[in-house]
Amino acid sequence: MASIRKVLIANRGEIACRIIRTCREMGIATVAVYSDADRAALHVRMANEAYRVGPAPARESYLDGGAVIDIARRAGADAVHPGYGFLSENAAFASACAEAGLVFIGPPPAAMEAMGVKTVARERMRQAGVPVVPGSPGPVTDEGEALRLARGIGFPVMLKAAAGGGGKGMRKVDGEAGFSAAFLAARRETQGAFGDDRVYLEKYLDEPRHVEIQLFADRHGKTLWLGERECSVQRRHQKVIEETPSPIVDEGMRRRMGEVAVRAARAVSYAGAGTVEFLVDARRDFYFLEMNTRLQVEHPITEWCTGLDLVRWQIEVAGGGALPWAQEDVRPRGHAIEARVYAEDPARGFLPSPGRIKALRVPSGPWVRDDGGVYAGYTVPIHYDPMISKLSAWAPDRAIAIDRLRRALSEYLVRGITTNVRWLRRVLDHPDFRGGRYDTTFLARRAKELATDPDPALAETALLAAAAHAFARDEERARQLTGLRVQGGDAWKLAGRRSALARGSWSR
Ligand code: ADP
Repeated sequence: MASIRKVLIANRGEIACRIIRTCREMGIATVAVYSDADRAALHVRMANEAYRVGPAPARESYLDGGAVIDIARRAGADAVHPGYGFLSENAAFASACAEAGLVFIGPPPAAMEAMGVKTVARERMRQAGVPVVPGSPGPVTDEGEALRLARGIGFPVMLKAAAGGGGKGMRKVDGEAGFSAAFLAARRETQGAFGDDRVYLEKYLDEPRHVEIQLFADRHGKTLWLGERECSVQRRHQKVIEETPSPIVDEGMRRRMGEVAVRAARAVSYAGAGTVEFLVDARRDFYFLEMNTRLQVEHPITEWCTGLDLVRWQIEVAGGGALPWAQEDVRPRGHAIEARVYAEDPARGFLPSPGRIKALRVPSGPWVRDDGGVYAGYTVPIHYDPMISKLSAWAPDRAIAIDRLRRALSEYLVRGITTNVRWLRRVLDHPDFRGGRYDTTFLARRAKELATDPDPALAETALLAAAAHAFARDEERARQLTGLRVQGGDAWKLAGRRSALARGSWSR
């Protein structure tokens, strides 16, 4: 296969920037695409060329595979990197790229298809001898049948979307009483999210841990596992903090999980980077949950410990290259942790907090990496996922890695919008996290202890706004509120300035 010289990145935000960086190191030219909401985005500035792909809504821009392929052709790109999300797990898009003569930097479409529908994937895995979470053999449409199956599996059960992803359409049902309503609601939610109302049942595993294996396969028959990632710090089934190695995985368990993951990948003739996700129960038995046929958000921690650039190897493998190592050569070192930094307000139910970033100081220093997608002066749009960066740190051992990430988080300064940075520090400081004693229910169970006060900068804004309001009627009252010697119009000016600073958070 001809070598890849120009890559179109069919994505935005931090992952587009991250892919562009590796391309630049490899001497590969980059083409960005952007929606109307992203004209001034960082990935547009970083790429060699950039083209408008459509209006702000993702469905009309980043999810428009035809438009993306047209641009790739126009720009003379020879490959497309889909990042994660958007078109990354869309087998039809991968096939369309191939038909247009473009290398899709990802697995073969057939492998994506086999893993794309969870019920189909579960059946394939069962046949390949991979342990799956016990549950219904396929999707269930009839409520009576679903209830019968639930009784057989034993409550509590989890209703899940066959076409699922992103935690959508997932519902825990504790007993028969709530089953009917939950079944209807899950189908409706699934239809809304994926245009497909098929749901299936899984045994609800009590306080499980989410541990996943990073895989890499070339197109010459070699499939390797690159260690695990523990991703049990989750909010609403979405990962927030990830670490490797997992505090509960020992050498023997790691090898067993790695070998099972390789078996899963081989069963679908996998190639490229992929991740097999497992749920681990209290007895440390592990069960296949799903396979993500793309680069994961949390891949940097595997890069820290293996010293490999996974994007570089994605490009090498897609171009026909062979992985030059044997399994014994892969020896992850030390400990890495990543925290996802969001434009959201933990004090207000984690409400997204888009808006203009007035000032930004990004952490740095020894063994710290910030995978960001924003800059000072940039406006975080409301249309997409509010993750603005992933901050990760490496150290020889877990305790120092936690201290280091905590130190790095304390350097983060984002003005103008609210972020979850202070809350992340509280999570890292929690004795259960420090002790490695946590499962997927940790954040929900400890929500009260982890709660942060409203951002002091915003509290001040509220106070000044109140003062300004009072000032309009009563100068003395304004003075009491602020302790300031307010003179004609000062409070208005001050409050105006502060609320402009925090506009993103206050406008919603
Ligand atoms: P999605 O693809 O929508 O992200 P997953 O199947 O990957 O959904 O599951 C996401 C998370 O939901 C898991 O990491 C776990 O916390 C929880 N979960 C999923 N299935 C179960 C189950 N059967 N029992 C308990 N928790 C589950």
